[in-house]
Amino acid sequence: MQIKNSIFIFLIVLLSTQSISQESTLNDHDQMQCGSDEILRQMMDNIPGYEDSLHQHMHELQQILKSQTHAKSLKDVYTLPVVFHVVYNNETENIHDSVIYNQLDVLNKAFRRQNEDTVNMRPIFNQIVGDAGIQFVLAKVDPDGNPTNGITRTYTNIKNFYPEAEYVAGQGSVTDKSQVSRIMDDQQGGKSPWNTNKYINIWVGDLSQYRSTSSGYVDEDALYGVASFPKHQSIHFDSTNGFKLKEDGIIMHYKTIGSNNNIPYTNNYYPTGFLDNKRKGGKMLVHEMGHYLGLFHIWGATISNCEEGDYIHDTPGASLGSLADCNIMYNQNNCIDTILGQDLPDMIENYMDYSPDVCMNSFTHGQIDIMRLTINIYRPSLLNYAAANIDSFNEQGKVAVYPNPTRGNYTLSFEQFQKELTVIVYGIDGKVISQHDYANTNSITAELTGEKGIYIIHVHLSDGSVVKRSLVKEA
Ligand SMILES: [Zn+2]
Ligand SMILES: [Zn+2]
Repeated sequence: MQIKNSIFIFLIVLLSTQSISQESTLNDHDQMQCGSDEILRQMMDNIPGYEDSLHQHMHELQQILKSQTHAKSLKDVYTLPVVFHVVYNNETENIHDSVIYNQLDVLNKAFRRQNEDTVNMRPIFNQIVGDAGIQFVLAKVDPDGNPTNGITRTYTNIKNFYPEAEYVAGQGSVTDKSQVSRIMDDQQGGKSPWNTNKYINIWVGDLSQYRSTSSGYVDEDALYGVASFPKHQSIHFDSTNGFKLKEDGIIMHYKTIGSNNNIPYTNNYYPTGFLDNKRKGGKMLVHEMGHYLGLFHIWGATISNCEEGDYIHDTPGASLGSLADCNIMYNQNNCIDTILGQDLPDMIENYMDYSPDVCMNSFTHGQIDIMRLTINIYRPSLLNYAAANIDSFNEQGKVAVYPNPTRGNYTLSFEQFQKELTVIVYGIDGKVISQHDYANTNSITAELTGEKGIYIIHVHLSDGSVVKRSLVKEA
């Protein structure tokens, strides 16, 4: 709740300092660009113990990162297959392939830190940012094994996936945001996903809202994007109400896709063209991909404060998200931190801030470590070389671990027949749990002894290489 209140207050201050006309009642809708805060808030409200559990989990991930002494050198590039589902009601929404190719290029440059606008980053952050070593390819094979260009197109008679809302005096516009999920379902006017374990599904549709206000009806951009969090951050969320996504993936407003997309934004709170100059760089999908790979906003996960923040050690603390105009944010330093011995200013250059596309250009090493660990532990089946049609297996592809999580037994299967191999299991504290040698096999099954938690398996293969995989044990 604290997040909401602080943004709410901040927005009012921001709007009034810029002398932009505003409605008498600001409501939830007016401040929302990204749906993740709303989803987290729903989980906090509906799942007993959610916050404690998330807290514990994020600390476990940090423990793993500390124990991975060779984590920094493990920079093989992860390749993840994506599919764009364009769900359109008119030809403007049926964005061209070239816009999607452009978006993919922006996404890939961001995750390899090859984007040209990194020159705009203040040098004070040079030490903390880096190359995430993650790349995305349009799926080349569909779930039936047929060739595809990684783009599906579906006509819908739904004009706005963001639901209409009625203005209620004192409450603003009231709406059920979970209806955004209709875009993920064939039966509800959307497009059902491809196997969400094997493809990153990205739906693109109209997330603007037709709603009544105190001064009549408006149709304007309401939500720019929303992503499902990895499993450990969205445990057992089964509320029938509120904003949740019925499938794993990312939903994007069609106007945010691509830096070569000229469809203007419609927002009653800013002058015409204000957002078009700032929010047309294709960065919104980079931000949502960050959530999908386990990142929170830089000012905090479940609450907004300077201490816990986003559970990342090297993102400068920020007690607020920046909005709209990052130029006026440059001198903000809302939290005192000691990163590399310095108290750094709020990092409006970070993709996980709310700053506009023209300001965001970097991820920190801590964010990168969490995203890569999330792929390894929670989204390993995305390393799906068949769907991406990658010719050669890289190191991570040599060994599959399943089931993961496990309640006891687990299987390692190998791409190549192994004449001899050694499997060493470590606890997150780095202690050896077990060590076994095997010979002449292409898979082994073993029991994971020990308590619930996260384990690291080192597989020393016949060819001399060592593959490290994480395995989660459930109670
Ligand atoms: Zn967000
Ligand atoms: Zn080893």
